[in-house]
Amino acid sequence: MNDSVQATAPFIEIDAELCKGCKLCIGVCPKGVIDISEKLNGSSYHPAYYLGRDCTGCALCFYACPEPAAIKVVKP
Ligand code: SF4
Ligand code: SF4
Repeated sequence: MNDSVQATAPFIEIDAELCKGCKLCIGVCPKGVIDISEKLNGSSYHPAYYLGRDCTGCALCFYACPEPAAIKVVKP
């Protein structure tokens, strides 16, 4: 058994307060694992969020995002 698979999978973190809801990350993600929240952040944008699975760590979302530091790609 290898129960470390989940822990070693790549994932992203989106800072909801830095996101402006432009959806560019959603358009470029080849896995379709980013969506837009129905909630508003402190600047009245609907922030993007990670669906929580299947990220490959390709970083296309990171490079597409116009907001510095809004997306962090984690590759354990
Ligand atoms: S790193 Fe790649 S697969 Fe992961 S959320 Fe961003 S675009 Fe999608
Ligand atoms: S590209 Fe950046 S600012 Fe635009 S929705 Fe995605 S995380 Fe938010």
